[in-house]
Amino acid sequence: MNAARMIATLGFRRWYERQLIESHLCLVTCFLCIILLAVCIEHALPQSALRGSAAAVFIAFAAAAGGIWSWNHYRVVFSRAERYGHVAHCEHCGTYARFEVERTSAASSRGEPTLNVRCRQCRHRWTMPEA
Ligand SMILES: [Zn+2]
Repeated sequence: MNAARMIATLGFRRWYERQLIESHLCLVTCFLCIILLAVCIEHALPQSALRGSAAAVFIAFAAAAGGIWSWNHYRVVFSRAERYGHVAHCEHCGTYARFEVERTSAASSRGEPTLNVRCRQCRHRWTMPEA
């Protein structure tokens, strides 16, 4: 489900909260992968019994791949949440995250859909995220 549909379905506050939770879970996963990679490297030292074992090498590669994927996913999800979050307040009355999605447009150059929204407080309309 894309961001526009999720915002329209869940509401902005819940969507934003879920994006932050998802991104920070990825950040924690990235740190855990780094720790696992460090453990694998330590076991690969000459005095280790696991030196040269295929399992240690496989786990090290899996930890590196998982860490890279987690870091990239964290950046994508967090930056998307921040782009939408910065324009979630009404410029007219200043109300934050209280709007209705009127229409969604096709994905922009960033690959994200744009939303035409209307403030529930004052009926002011704007587009998010900004180009
Ligand atoms: Zn308003």
